[in-house]
Amino acid sequence: MTLFGLGRQKPHHYFEMAKVAWENRDQLPFAWRILTNGVCDGCALGTSGLSDWTIQGTHLCMVRLELMRLNTAPPLTPSRLTDVSSLGSCSSADLRALGRIPEPMLRRRGEAGFLFASWDEALDRIAEELRTIDPLRAAFYLTSRGITNEA
Ligand code: SF4
Repeated sequence: MTLFGLGRQKPHHYFEMAKVAWENRDQLPFAWRILTNGVCDGCALGTSGLSDWTIQGTHLCMVRLELMRLNTAPPLTPSRLTDVSSLGSCSSADLRALGRIPEPMLRRRGEAGFLFASWDEALDRIAEELRTIDPLRAAFYLTSRGITNEA
């Protein structure tokens, strides 16, 4: 018997799992629904709920659990983004802790930060810009995670 599975090939991350549960304590039913009905946004191995299509048994790792807060976080306070100069010294963890962006936000040239925009306005702006681009010179950045696999 080893403490928390230390020294084993697949340690049991009970302490880390408890930390994830605590971090998501305000949204536990939602987090459970994501785990049991959702797919993993951690990498491209592919899951459906808590299993995959290749190996029997539970498919779950700490990467997926540690990303859970990205889905369960409350919406950010919009005023935090009205002047982004105050965010320059924030770490990526600080920025994630601000919360989810609940609606499209727009920063126009020369403005200090972002303001909410309607979905219609945001989609119109995107379409307007795309129409001006030669399709052969257009590229889309889909995700900052696992781009090599998912692309
Ligand atoms: S290995 Fe981890 S991050 Fe990748 S799909 Fe499986 S649970 Fe998600």
